[in-house]
Amino acid sequence: MLFFFGSRATKIKERRLRNTKCPYCETKDSFTVATFSKYFHFFWIPIIPLFKTHVAECSHCKKSYAKGQFTPEMLRSLENENRVNPAKKPIWQGCGCIVLVLFFGTMLAFSFYGVYMRSQNPEKYKIELDPRLELLNADMDKLSRRVQRDTDSLTFSLKECVAYDIVDGIDTDEIGYFTKWNGDKLLVLLKVNDIKKIEAKYRKELFDVIEDCMDDINPKDSITEYYMAVEGKWNTVLVKTPTDADLGGRFADKKKLLPFYGEKPLPIEKTEMDSILK
Ligand SMILES: [Zn+2]
Repeated sequence: MLFFFGSRATKIKERRLRNTKCPYCETKDSFTVATFSKYFHFFWIPIIPLFKTHVAECSHCKKSYAKGQFTPEMLRSLENENRVNPAKKPIWQGCGCIVLVLFFGTMLAFSFYGVYMRSQNPEKYKIELDPRLELLNADMDKLSRRVQRDTDSLTFSLKECVAYDIVDGIDTDEIGYFTKWNGDKLLVLLKVNDIKKIEAKYRKELFDVIEDCMDDINPKDSITEYYMAVEGKWNTVLVKTPTDADLGGRFADKKKLLPFYGEKPLPIEKTEMDSILK
């Protein structure tokens, strides 16, 4: 596992410690103190400087001391050095921070510019809403496992027939159904929560079952077009219409069902909208 972020240190200054004595070899003024600056990095890009550390080394006995091991006179000497010759954190350790600020600043500027342009020219940026999609979503919400024989005999017969024909180990009581007429078109929606029990490549056979059942239930000439979809647990997995189909069994585009509700409506012009509102 690579480390993509964390802290790194870099040496920023080397100074002599005056008026000191090595506690080990007792040599006078033998210390060089190296000052390191730690910084936070992300993908090795320095983001922000953190803190400084100091390590002193005796040039005579080569023994090194972390700041916590400094004698009081070493600490005093370091304080003196910090006054006359301070070790500053280098600016580059914060350059990632500056880049990030510039980046987000630019993004923000662009989004403000977009909002401004839309407010100046709303026609050009008009979002085309398709009311047919609202109808489809409303119908999909009506998918139900409990179908009444008295009030919805077509769906009831379909459910009975499909439950009889399916032999794939699916719990047929758990399948949701919805049917709807529009002229001579019929919309058939099924919701199969445990669709994963059927291999994806065999799922499209559900349509064969539905079509066979509908042939039995209804005289052939009363329906000229079928619009069928199977919903899985999370998304539409199958769609079949007279002109289009998604039969892969995993992800299907439910918008292909929209022609069931009619031709694509023309976007309403702003002037027309105004006259309607008046
Ligand atoms: Zn020494």
